[in-house]
Amino acid sequence: MVEGYKKSRSLARKKYTSPSGDHRVRYDRRRSDPAACGMCGARLLGVPRDAVLLGKTQRRPERPYGGVFCSPCTREVLQKKAASLRSPLIGESSSDSPSEGSDA
Ligand SMILES: [Zn+2]
Repeated sequence: MVEGYKKSRSLARKKYTSPSGDHRVRYDRRRSDPAACGMCGARLLGVPRDAVLLGKTQRRPERPYGGVFCSPCTREVLQKKAASLRSPLIGESSSDSPSEGSDA
């Protein structure tokens, strides 16, 4: 009887030839898509595709928005955030303000 996980399509089927010449099928994990920037969709550098077995610090860059935004988009976001902190009248549009809200 065929094992259940071999009937499912959640695993990728890879055909290979064994050393004895038999053609066999191997069942592997499917690879995930490469990580993409949340704003522009560019491929993220420093984020491995199969990072399940790695430590947390090896799965994405250790910086703000690491593994979420690409470098130019991170720069843009941080500059907008800093500008809104400097002059609250200009940059305030929604609930991004960190320290306000309890003023009466
Ligand atoms: Zn981007």
